Amino acid sequence: MTRTELSSLGEFGLIDRIKANTKINHKTTLKGIGDDAAVIEAGDTCLLVSTDMLVENVHFDLSYMPLPHLGYKAVAVNISDIAAMNGIPEQITVSLAISNRFSVEAIDALYQGIFSACEDYKVDLIGGDTTSSAGGLVISITAIGRAKPTKIAYRNGAKKGDILCVTGDLGAAYMGLKVLQMQKVEFLENPQMQPSLEGKEYVVRRQLKPQARMDIIHELADLGIVPTAMIDVSDGLASEISHLSKQSGVGAMVYEDKLPIDKETYEIAINTFKLIPSVCAINGGEDYELLFTIAQEYYEKVKNHEDISLIGYMTEEKEINLATTGGQKVPLSSQGWSHF
Ligand code: ADP
Ligand code: MG
Repeated sequence: MTRTELSSLGEFGLIDRIKANTKINHKTTLKGIGDDAAVIEAGDTCLLVSTDMLVENVHFDLSYMPLPHLGYKAVAVNISDIAAMNGIPEQITVSLAISNRFSVEAIDALYQGIFSACEDYKVDLIGGDTTSSAGGLVISITAIGRAKPTKIAYRNGAKKGDILCVTGDLGAAYMGLKVLQMQKVEFLENPQMQPSLEGKEYVVRRQLKPQARMDIIHELADLGIVPTAMIDVSDGLASEISHLSKQSGVGAMVYEDKLPIDKETYEIAINTFKLIPSVCAINGGEDYELLFTIAQEYYEKVKNHEDISLIGYMTEEKEINLATTGGQKVPLSSQGWSHF
């Protein structure tokens, strides 16, 4: 028997391997592994199902993540995957592994956030599972949603010439994480210090309390637009564009000067961390914005939308390039390109 290290496959390689060994038994399974949510035929509409797990000290650190925010975020990131299919969420299940380190009050605080998100996204908590954990807290949520089959936006529908759009702004959640991590280090060195979030409220909020962009799903429906492809930005823009490109069999051209970056994100990147803001926007994760492609005929409908940025277009050649502000054309994945 040979032993293969997981690191040689990586997360996506491992998922591909599981997918390759999966057998589908039911015609009602319209989409299995490989998109933001699975798609199941259910009468005139389809059910959408997505699961995401958050693990203590991998996805969150309770020394700066308040439990209500954690509960809210765990729901929001799952709702975001239903949004990324152009669907409407309806139910969630919540599964917890908890150690006796947590009190009843702590679990109440976690559920305060879960219920607050249920209220905001109009979803019903319908079940879950509770078990003990030898170590940290694990929270796994499954979201169930619904969409008409003709309205579902898969990752694989982008066509050459489609406009590449992203909602909101990018890189803020990553800057928020860096700020919180920096303050934790400072606090451990000097427990007397009073952490100050002045001028950093937006990026910290984006890290601690992300929102699923259901507002955009409703607006796209009002505008009569069905994206040709869609994904939510959980791992970072470059990674998500590569999923859309790979699954759709097209490439992309992205314009650095079109990337939406909030002023606070921009200033913190440069002044506090000496980072290039657009690198943070491209590679930082957890923004939970929607990245989608639309046919060119919809250009007029979205071009002035204040919360949708047109950042590029899809190309026939399968590479993903960035047109930099300095006039260079570089592969998008490469970090730290020269600005001048
Ligand atoms: P997202 O970032 O949108 O949550 P992921 O990258 O986590 O998506 O997952 C991509 C796809 O792989 C999804 O269809 C998901 O259901 C599937 N997947 C992830 N982990 C596993 C697993 N352990 N077994 C089967 N399918 C999985
Ligand atoms: Mg997703």
